[in-house]
Parts: sequence; structure tokens; C-alpha cells
Amino acid sequence: MLGLMQNWPLLISKVIDHAASQFGNQEIVSRLVEGTIHRETYQTMRGRALQLAKSLTVSGIKNGDRIATLAWNTHRHLELWYGITGLGAIYHTVNPRLFDDQIIYIINHAEDRLLFLDLTFVPLVERIAPKLTTIERFVILTDAAHMPQTTLKNAIAYEDYIAQSDSDFVWAVFDENTAAGLCYTSGTTGNPKGVLYSHRSNVLHAMAHVAPDFFNISSHDSVMPVVPLFHANSWSLGFSAPMVGARLVMPGAKLDGPSLHELLENERVTMTAAVPTVWLALLDHLNRTQGKLTTLKRVAIGGSACPRAMTEAFEKHYGVTVAHAWGMTEMSPLGSFCSIKPDLAGLDDDALYSLKMKQGFPAFTVEMKITDDKGTPLPHDGKTFGRLKVRGPAVARHYYGYENENMLDDAGFFDTGDVATIDPHGYMHITDRSKDVIKSGGEWISSIKLENLAIAHPCVAEAAVIGVAHPKWDERPLLIIVRKKDAVLERDEILHFFEGKIAKWWMPDDVVFIDEIPHTATGKIQKTALRDMFANHRLPRA
Ligand code: ADP
Repeated sequence: MLGLMQNWPLLISKVIDHAASQFGNQEIVSRLVEGTIHRETYQTMRGRALQLAKSLTVSGIKNGDRIATLAWNTHRHLELWYGITGLGAIYHTVNPRLFDDQIIYIINHAEDRLLFLDLTFVPLVERIAPKLTTIERFVILTDAAHMPQTTLKNAIAYEDYIAQSDSDFVWAVFDENTAAGLCYTSGTTGNPKGVLYSHRSNVLHAMAHVAPDFFNISSHDSVMPVVPLFHANSWSLGFSAPMVGARLVMPGAKLDGPSLHELLENERVTMTAAVPTVWLALLDHLNRTQGKLTTLKRVAIGGSACPRAMTEAFEKHYGVTVAHAWGMTEMSPLGSFCSIKPDLAGLDDDALYSLKMKQGFPAFTVEMKITDDKGTPLPHDGKTFGRLKVRGPAVARHYYGYENENMLDDAGFFDTGDVATIDPHGYMHITDRSKDVIKSGGEWISSIKLENLAIAHPCVAEAAVIGVAHPKWDERPLLIIVRKKDAVLERDEILHFFEGKIAKWWMPDDVVFIDEIPHTATGKIQKTALRDMFANHRLPRA
């Protein structure tokens, strides 16, 4: 017997409708690429998204068509999300930090019909345009006054493009399982793969993560998504903030410490989210300038492991609560948050910060398990580590274009490629990516654990640990360090710093100092590049 309730499909248009009707005067503040600060309300944003949807239909865009964006976090980029999905088409956020060849590959693979780009990316797109086989028109996210001279086909300013239409448009209604967004994972090996979100998955994912143990946002917050709209759905904030009527502060192209600090303070931001490298730059700026954070209450940090020193700095020096978050593009992207459950309240300082190093527990809609290589479930004892697998309504079941390839196990779980422990309280702790774990004499050494230890040394700006071939042990850890500016630090001192903090056999066999650690397009340490760099490194004791 079916229930007798209304069938109200979970469509993204419902989110902007709700924001506009209940929080119509709430602001979206954007730092534009043109240099100025722009303000508009949810009501205005909805009207402009309707104009855009109508203009898109005039361009012949229909349900299921893919539209690419190469853009920073601004009101225009968010209008694109709502306008495109409002007619049943699909926003395809392209990460501009990828190599040209990867960008060409994913735009052609997605068969995008239009490309909306920020002024910043005009030179990039002019360079690759001859190889983009499906793009019919380029729309530059600016107004007529700022339009550059360009060779791009049929280029038009966004403001002119939407001004062709009025906002007399009705959102299309369709099945909630209809595709809404497309995002390619950077693919450390092989070609990038597309994750195709649906209206239902995006709406459920946002609803699950506004809850108090997770983003904990409401209409009383000013939320600044520093994590880009082009990186894994900006951790849902483009949907979850409007869903609860939170004020939005969009930082545009300027993600350096001083620019972020200025916006955090001037715009009275209460909650923000980004990867650790962004916060490293902010904390460094605050440290140098004796800056304060007078309105910020919470920061979500994820994308790579958040070092303990960073959590302690935010909480103890600046009074900002850190939520360590974990997830991945395939999970829309949020998987877990580390907030404190009631049975763990009252931990002493050391135990609390050890707990906060963990990536936390999942929201309703995500289920987790750890298994061995054969798929046998492993105990949740906080010690045994295994392959981390997840399932839920906002977890991918196929990659776009690979619908014939099964990526789930028999119980419907997706292997995240991460290695983790889960403790009896349900807290998950990533110990490594399965391809980065160091296999020494048949046992595993966590590269992340060693990196976090190294970063706690006051002279270390950044650290990476990779496995280097060893004749007897298979692999041994090599510690790679970038010193802080003007800091003096040598091999013996850092190894001494590790003593007593790790098992003896985890001790790195060697230490090298370099000027810069390479990062991937999503801000993670590029271990493949480091492995190439040090492929022939001879360990002293080998
Ligand atoms: P890409 O693989 O394209 O860089 P993702 O953002 O999807 O993009 O990367 C997801 C991966 O990032 C996870 O599988 C995990 O290895 C890593 N990751 C994300 N958050 C954390 C975290 N808090 N701690 C450690 N690793 C993390």
C-alpha cells in the first residue's frame, strides 16, 4: 500500500523559490572579478535565474543538455546553477586549475553546448577553443562595459545574455531523479571521470548537512563558501545556504589571506569552509598582522587532513570552532563531520584535540563500513584499518559515460579509495589513501599521520611523506619538508621531534627539504609528482 501524501519532487528550483519567498531580502555579496563588491538579494537572484533560464531556451537549450562553467564563486555562477537546472539542463562545473588537455577532454566528453566563463579565464579558453568540438557559444560573466576584445565564437556578455529575456518563465517540472550537475574528479590516474548529480541527490544532501551536528547554518548566519563551486559542488553550500536563508558571501577570485580576512571582517561572516591550504595562508596572515576574527564562529575544514595545529590555532587563538570534514566528488561530496557527540562531552584538552583529528561521523543519508581487501567487514575498534566504503542516496553509482561498469560491491557500497579506522563511537579516521599508504615489511604506515606530526613542528610550513623503494622492507617512508620562511631546521632535529610520538618502525628513513610541494587542481599534495621526483632517491640505510 502506498502512502497518501503529495508527490512533491525534490527539485533544485524549490530551493531558490523558498529562499526568495521566505528570505527575499537576504543578501548575496560577491567580490567580482572586475574588482567591485556586488550585492543582490535572493529575490533578485531568483528573478535573474529565471531570465537566464528563458534566455537559455531561446538558445535552444533543453532538458538534459550540458552547460559548462569556468568560474569563481560569485552571484553569477550561482545564478547559473539555478537557471540551468530550473529548465532541466545540467550545470557542468569545470575546474580551471586542471591542465589544458584535461579541460579539453572533459568539456568534449560531456559534450557541453555553451561555456560560461569569468574574465580571468578568457586567455585560457581562447587557447583551447579550437579543440572544443561541441561548444556553440561563449558567454563571459561580465557586463558590456567590461567585455574584452576576444576571438571567442559568438561571445556575449552575461548581462546582455540574460537581458534578452524577462523573468516571466515557469520552472520546468520533471522527475526528481533527473540529472542536475556534472563534476569530473581530477583523476590522479587515467582520464577524469564525471559524477552526475541528480536534483534529488543534491536536495537531500543539502538537507542532511545543514543540521546542527554538521554545517549548523541558519538564516542568522553569513556563510562564505571559499571552497569553489567548481570543486565538488562547493560542499553543497550553494544549495544549503539558500535552503535555510543564510546570507552568502562569495569571495570571487581572491583567495589569499589578506583578501579573505578583509571579507570575513567587513561582511561579518559567521561560518566558512575550505581546504587546509587556504587556512594556512589566512592563519599566516593573521599571525603576521596580529589580525582578529571578530564575527567568525565556525569553520569547516576538509579536502585533505586538517592538521591538529590548525584546529588548535583556530579554536584557542581565535575562538572559532573547527569541524573537520571529509568527503569526495563521488559523494556530492560530504561524507562525515567531526562534531562532538554527547557521550564524549567533557574530554580533557589532549583527548579532545586527538578526537578532532578524526574525520568524524556521517550525517543521515550516508552509511559507512571498513573492509579488508577481500571485502570482509573489519571491526570498529578505532585501531584496525581497512578500505573505507560508503553508500547513500547522494553517492554515485556509475560514472558518466561508464554506465555499463559497476563501481559498487554486492551490498551497494562504493570503495572510496581511502583507508580508515572507525572507533566504537562511530568516528572515522582516515589513515591514508589506499595508493599512498606505505607498505613496509607487510605492514602499513600512515603517510597522513607522519605528515600531521611534521606540520606540528614550528619550523615546518608543509610536509609530505611518500614510500620509497627499499630492498628489504619493500617501501620505507621519506619525509619531504618545506621550511617556514627564514626558519632553520635540519634532518636530525625533525627526526628527534618524532621520537616517542610514533612506533620506531614508522620513523622516516630520510628527510629532504624542498622549496615547494606540488599540489593537485583540488589543493591536495600531488603525491604522484613527488614519487616521480624522488623515484631514484637512495635512502641512507638501504
Ligand atoms: P580529487 O580526488 O579530484 O582531488 P575529491 O575532492 O573528490 O577530489 O577528493 C576526495 C579525497 O580527498 C578523499 O577520498 C580523501 O582521500 C581526501 N580527503 C577529503 N577530505 C579529507 C580529510 N578531511 N582528511 C583526509 N583526506 C581527505
